Amino acid sequence: MADACLFCRIARGELPVPFLAESVRCVAFRDISPQAPKHFLVIPREHFDSLNEIKDPALVGEMMIMARDVAATEGMDVSGYRTVINTNADGGQSVSHVHVHVLGGRKMHWPPG
Ligand code: 5GP
Ligand code: ZN
Repeated sequence: MADACLFCRIARGELPVPFLAESVRCVAFRDISPQAPKHFLVIPREHFDSLNEIKDPALVGEMMIMARDVAATEGMDVSGYRTVINTNADGGQSVSHVHVHVLGGRKMHWPPG
């Protein structure tokens, strides 16, 4: 399953997707279909279908810290940005490898749809 998973393949460097940041356990890269002027994803290198499957709280922390740090690199730390984890059908998750969306470069609306 993880062999064929799109985001596992990106994390392994099998697809021509530049990393904005990488660490031992996580990578960040731009979303292929940006929903804001800045839109990138942070994923763990290890495959988890969704947030539901992650047992290690430190891994969630590492994803969020990378999200924060790349948001700063992208110049959004002061203007602001949004972090989102969609989970399963009602959450709107379309890729079954857990990922944090980071969106910015414009004002975000609330509530989300
Ligand atoms: P979800 O809907 O699961 O929360 O988010 C999946 C995200 O992955 C979407 O925003 C979609 O645009 C992005 N995505 C899907 N396929 C690719 C791809 O091949 N490359 C990149 N960089 N992003 C992708
Ligand atoms: Zn995967």
